[in-house]
Amino acid sequence: MSAANLLSGDSGTVSEENSNWIVSTGQAWKLYVAIAGFAGSLLCFTVAFFSLGAGGGRFLGLTACGVFLAGATFVWLTAVLRCPHCLAKLVWTMVVSRPHTSWLIDLAALDRCPACGRQLTK
Ligand SMILES: [Zn+2]
Repeated sequence: MSAANLLSGDSGTVSEENSNWIVSTGQAWKLYVAIAGFAGSLLCFTVAFFSLGAGGGRFLGLTACGVFLAGATFVWLTAVLRCPHCLAKLVWTMVVSRPHTSWLIDLAALDRCPACGRQLTK
């Protein structure tokens, strides 16, 4: 806690330097929709797992539902999360160019578009 932080008085206001590009370009809601989609598919898998104990009649249907929902959510997020300047599909760019363990972190931490090199937060 420094004096500069206290003096900037940013309680309630969004500091543009600190927020990441997804938030500052107004695309955070897309992440929330994607999280809801993945949570829904996880729910399908969970219900499918427990349906095994009840005879397993719905297991395949629920699993297929979960796979479809997760796939559709990922394809949708890939299509809509774009660079505001050149409209590059940044999710896809990061998935194919980074290790699978860190692409999501690298994506959130981007400050320049890997396709056009312009600052994403401006
Ligand atoms: Zn770009």
